[in-house]
Amino acid sequence: MGSRNHPLRVTRSALGIRAQDLRALSRGVWWARRWMASLETMRLGARLGRARQYAADGQVTELVVDGARVRATVVGSRPDPYSVAFEFTSAGDETRKRIEDVLLANPMTLGRILAGDLPIEVGEIFHAEGLPLFPMAEPRGRTADGKPVWDVVMRCNCPDWSRPCKHMAAVLLLLGGEVARRPAALLALRGVDVEHLVQPDPPGDARCPRRAALAERVPHGASAAMLVRRLGPVPFWRGTERCVETLEKMQARARNVAETAASGRSIDLRG
Ligand SMILES: [Zn+2]
Repeated sequence: MGSRNHPLRVTRSALGIRAQDLRALSRGVWWARRWMASLETMRLGARLGRARQYAADGQVTELVVDGARVRATVVGSRPDPYSVAFEFTSAGDETRKRIEDVLLANPMTLGRILAGDLPIEVGEIFHAEGLPLFPMAEPRGRTADGKPVWDVVMRCNCPDWSRPCKHMAAVLLLLGGEVARRPAALLALRGVDVEHLVQPDPPGDARCPRRAALAERVPHGASAAMLVRRLGPVPFWRGTERCVETLEKMQARARNVAETAASGRSIDLRG
């Protein structure tokens, strides 16, 4: 997985990033709301308010995401900071390859993820492989001797037995902010690094055959937005922008990213 080569690292010197992440979380894209709904089912009660304060105040002093593993340092009420660690259930090699193949066969879906959108079908692709996209509050199952198997194994060295404690919850909030801003991060937590998937081939290497196939699948010509335009006003659209224009912009962006990925050129994923 490529994420191991470029772990997301947030340190105390980047307090602004944290505030920005929390704002992204409340921005209301569906996957941010879904992330928050997951947290709410974890029955945090008053700890959620404390966690929000911790996250906003920069008490999470270090946050390192490396594939499905997350570790963080959180300053609590004691002078020594607490260590938080998560391990998300992630795709094994075979599952990861199958998911990547589905994404490569659907360049517009891949392009939309890379352009900062999360098509609803991504959840279905993961579900088909028995992997959740969002953290599960309830155990995924039980071991033979009846112990719960958690979707996200969470640890914190504070004395609180709650799971998640407020330190873990603060880290989950910041992670949610990152996911809101960059939905590819959600897939990376499950072991599928789409940004790595579209990295250019190293110079001198033969062209990656999976990407060559991608190039043939990037749609041209008629767009979904054109179809919507023909159908007339969209009754369910709730955005402040016009539906067709938004769809066209989104599609153009996704096509751009998909074409760049297919060509083997590097993609600027900032912004
Ligand atoms: Zn704790």
